Amino acid sequence: MHKMADGRAVVIGAGIAGLCAARVLAPFFPKVVIVERDGAERFDDARPGMPGFLLGGGYAGLSELFPGIGADLLIAGGVRFDAGDDIRLESPEIGALPPRRMGWASYGVTRPTLERVIAQRTARWPNIVFHHNRRVTALRLAEGGARVDGIRCRLPDGTVEHLDAELVIDASGRPDLTLACTRTGDPAPAGRLAAGLGLAVATFRLPATFNPGFVGLATLPAPRSSRCGTVLRVGEERWQVVLAAREDERPAADEASFCEFAGTLPTPAVGAFLRRTRRPEQLGGYRLREAIWHRLDESHLPAGLLPVGDTMCRLDPIFGQGLTVAILQALLLRNVLAAAPQGGTQLAIRRFLERSNVLVERAWEAAATRDALFRAPAGAPSPQRLAAQDDNWREARRDPAAHEALLRQFHLLGLVGDETVSPQNAA
Ligand SMILES: Cc1cc2nc3c(=O)[nH]c(=O)nc-3n(C[C@H](O)[C@H](O)[C@H](O)COP(=O)(O)OP(=O)(O)OC[C@H]3O[C@@H](n4cnc5c(N)ncnc54)[C@H](O)[C@@H]3O)c2cc1C
Repeated sequence: MHKMADGRAVVIGAGIAGLCAARVLAPFFPKVVIVERDGAERFDDARPGMPGFLLGGGYAGLSELFPGIGADLLIAGGVRFDAGDDIRLESPEIGALPPRRMGWASYGVTRPTLERVIAQRTARWPNIVFHHNRRVTALRLAEGGARVDGIRCRLPDGTVEHLDAELVIDASGRPDLTLACTRTGDPAPAGRLAAGLGLAVATFRLPATFNPGFVGLATLPAPRSSRCGTVLRVGEERWQVVLAAREDERPAADEASFCEFAGTLPTPAVGAFLRRTRRPEQLGGYRLREAIWHRLDESHLPAGLLPVGDTMCRLDPIFGQGLTVAILQALLLRNVLAAAPQGGTQLAIRRFLERSNVLVERAWEAAATRDALFRAPAGAPSPQRLAAQDDNWREARRDPAAHEALLRQFHLLGLVGDETVSPQNAA
């Protein structure tokens, strides 16, 4: 039996971070309210273009939170794959990694499907309730700004509602609500990667029998270029192609430019895939001016407030880590709550923030390497961290153990259960 807090927990946002956090809070709080701006149809809408590449670490974490969720994902149309055997990873300079079975699972799934499956499992907890169609407009401060004791939200008809809370989780995907009540003003973010990114995402419906010889494909950029592309099966008949480049040379989101851009990638594989497809079902463009990480600790925040997921750190989407980091943060939250004494919510928040920053750093490193390359002046030697990455890639081609180590790192595996997030060390 878990130690129960007295008051209610409020979670802002029903994205992956909010849903997973709510599930984790359910055994510790008498009531958990998820307040979501969108209506319940959020989980049915075919939201254009949002990819759902769930890394191995994310799937492992999700299975721990929701045992048996892999079967739910498969029934809902998700695609289970082996990261070494089913995904072709191509470095134009060094070559593709050979297919090798890793034995652990990753998933390709559309975003609404993933969120719907997790929302259905979250809703099985009788003390979790969803309040849809409510936009949180502010966190309510008490004790001269030292504590958050609730939220204010607005309904579509303009009605304003207040909800008291012992704990508020900000999983709104944006930092604004949290930063508006930081105790030391807006703290300088610890990380800001300035090489903006532009993406175009096309979704194709293809016959279930369509078989290009892989479940997924990723073409890395050539040296001194930012252009890269991925292909991933995300459903029985659905495939997604993502093209990306630095903001100033980003792919346009129209069909002709999309195919033309694919032709400029350093290997022909994505272009060859596109030639075998029909018109895309959806085609959308995204711009990410910067990846940004608000490295908050307890001294910045009023008591009773915890930001998670993209609210805390928006990662470079090219590496497909955001969902996984949100899931791993939920596991971490579970561990620190389990280790805290009765009434020790604030202690759990402090421990969460310390350990979460270590977790985010692991994911942030990948994008920091890319950023260093883009910022380096033309003609300058490759940044050291990139040369190390190339060495790892060469080694991975040669040596199966190095291959597995590289993929485990990329898939953020092994973080659950190690000193960063294990319950024993949360004490
Ligand atoms: C183009 C693109 C491709 C990506 N591809 C991948 C990928 O393949 N794999 C991967 O792991 N990550 C990917 N990411 C990153 C991933 O989408 C995010 O990291 C992830 O969605 C973060 O989840 P979250 O719950 O923190 O935020 P969100 O998913 O943004 O959820 C926030 C929720 O809060 C609600 N909300 C916002 N404001 C309020 C408010 N004021 N009141 C009430 N509710 C509110 C929103 O409606 C939403 O439901 C991609 C990102 C982009 C942009």
